[in-house]
Amino acid sequence: MGNFVGYRCSLCGTEYQPDQVTYTCPKDGGNLDVWLDYTEIKNRFQVNDITSRRDYSIWRYLPLLPVEDPGGEGTPLRMVGWTPVYTPQRLAKELGIKTLWVKDEGRNPTASFKDRASAVVVARARQIKAEVVVTASTGNAGAALAGMAAAIGQKAVIFAPKTAPPAKVAQLLVFGAQVILVDGNYDQAFDLTIQASQEFGWYCRNTGYNPFTAEGKKTAALEIWEQVILNMRAGSRPLCVFVSVGDGNIISGIHKGFKDLATLGWLEQMPRIFGVQSEGSAAVANAYFKGTEVIEPVSAQTIADSISVDLPRDGVRAVRAARQTNGAYITVPDSEILKAIADLGRVGIFAEPAGATAYAGLKKALQQGLVTPDDPILVLNTGSGLKDIRAAMQAVKEAPVIEPSLSALKAHLSQTA
Ligand SMILES: *Cc1c(COP(=O)(O)O)cnc(C)c1O
Ligand SMILES: [Zn+2]
Repeated sequence: MGNFVGYRCSLCGTEYQPDQVTYTCPKDGGNLDVWLDYTEIKNRFQVNDITSRRDYSIWRYLPLLPVEDPGGEGTPLRMVGWTPVYTPQRLAKELGIKTLWVKDEGRNPTASFKDRASAVVVARARQIKAEVVVTASTGNAGAALAGMAAAIGQKAVIFAPKTAPPAKVAQLLVFGAQVILVDGNYDQAFDLTIQASQEFGWYCRNTGYNPFTAEGKKTAALEIWEQVILNMRAGSRPLCVFVSVGDGNIISGIHKGFKDLATLGWLEQMPRIFGVQSEGSAAVANAYFKGTEVIEPVSAQTIADSISVDLPRDGVRAVRAARQTNGAYITVPDSEILKAIADLGRVGIFAEPAGATAYAGLKKALQQGLVTPDDPILVLNTGSGLKDIRAAMQAVKEAPVIEPSLSALKAHLSQTA
């Protein structure tokens, strides 16, 4: 908290004091970047002070976060982050590339990347003594907020489209949040949440609205730096990071994390960031392809519900994340997303559709020559496959049903041999 000095609008550059604004820029609605006292951080910490910490969670990065320690020891809130990074050799071979890492965000307490953002927003809520935290969600952001709030006894209200996958709705309910399903899409739930938060004085976590979500999400970049980049050979090609994009807040947060490290002089080479969207929900990619930062809404339709967004709320920074790092955007059809679920599954990684989207994007990026087999590549799986088993079952063949007898088994095996 001592290092949190204010906000800077990502559109007009206006700077604000920490207590001057709460959400977006009052002048133009732009997303606010959290500004830290980098000189002070540099004076007080060296790389080793961070990397030698014994706290294996996002809270090891507290000196780089704009919140005070929220407490909650012994609860899921303390177990967010420090997700595993796998090196699936068979997948790398299949793709014909030298180095592949998959960072599995499904291993977070509520099984998605969103725990990072919700944990930091809950910490902020506690600090400003907010009674109620509210969010709109396609499912995961809500589950994460409900879970993190439950961990420390904070009251949470969640708005989600009534079409959200049942597993995600179950999480919301089990975590004891006040759940309100909206007979509409995510974008409509989003707008209603903002109205409700203004009307009732609730603290709003909405993605691409509350500036603290990106600060939580940047912790993934800090982990990638520690788990992968610091172990890479000197003079190595830049790491290429693949991430799926809906509202564009994860990709913006990851970019912010790397920028913070660069500002501190702790990162020698900026990774290249690649955003992947479903063809059916590609508002950010469209802007990137057109060479603009103007985000035109689409009518989103994709099996990857977590990235199904008409009007991305963090689109401008999301376009910049790829453009400013020599990355790119890639779009993939739902059929390739389903294939990617099966690809990852065969090496023991279970991804929900939006999680597998990044891997589908990598396959296409290789075909298009956006990355080469020599580039070191990291793919984020942003959510667990258990979040949406309906989609998972579409990615695989049905299991046979046989009589419980050896003869029936033999008949079946001879058929499939
Ligand atoms: C939210 C989410 C995304 C996309 O994040 P944005 O910030 O909306 O771009 C990707 N994958 C999963 C599993 C998510 O829950
Ligand atoms: Zn502004």
